[in-house]
Amino acid sequence: MIKQQLDLVLTEIPSEVTLIAVSKTKPIEDILVAYQAGQRHFGENKVQEMVQKAAALPKDIQWHMIGHLQRNKVKYMASFVHMIHGVDSLQLLIEINKQAQKVNRVQDVLLQFHIAQEETKFGLNWEEAAQLIDSDTFNDLQHVRICGVMGMASFTKDQQLIKDEFLSLKQIFDQLKTAYFQNLAYFKEISMGMSGDYQLAIEQGSTMVRVGSKIFGSR
Ligand SMILES: *Cc1c(COP(=O)(O)O)cnc(C)c1O
Repeated sequence: MIKQQLDLVLTEIPSEVTLIAVSKTKPIEDILVAYQAGQRHFGENKVQEMVQKAAALPKDIQWHMIGHLQRNKVKYMASFVHMIHGVDSLQLLIEINKQAQKVNRVQDVLLQFHIAQEETKFGLNWEEAAQLIDSDTFNDLQHVRICGVMGMASFTKDQQLIKDEFLSLKQIFDQLKTAYFQNLAYFKEISMGMSGDYQLAIEQGSTMVRVGSKIFGSR
């Protein structure tokens, strides 16, 4: 089933969009099935779980931390994590920079924006992001690289609302690109879209979709 579902999702995604298979709560064996079918990008939302899985699985897997991240956990994954999606504070960036420096890496991250109606979702607004990027502190960080933006739409059946929220993230990306990252080719990612809404997200410009239950089954 996993291989069939993976193949199905891949047929619905343009080749230039990166599929991140979200394997949180799923066992190593399930990840290996997807790996053997060719999948290399996997997403987890808990550091400890990702560290354990990474140790047990092939080293050419590219691990994405997609969950809300506590500063004191960054050190456990600093040596290998491919991209950190949920960065929403300067304090967190400072810690990521510090841990990346220790292992002589430049860590790729995405800034998470609050695009949903719900109060509870994490993320920055435009002013907060601009303040962060403009700060001297950020500009001194040599071991982090902001590669784009990430967001989650409201948990709703309202397709128009979801579409509008994805569009708002695309507009934030475009404005950031123009204002701060014009000539920086690495600033190119828009991480949006999950099992229920990745097609909508791709229509609105997503470059990375994070799909879990549609590939691995419900959790
Ligand atoms: C769990 C999770 C996903 C995947 O959700 P599905 O609905 O299972 O596809 C995507 N993004 C984040 C941030 C998640 O926590």
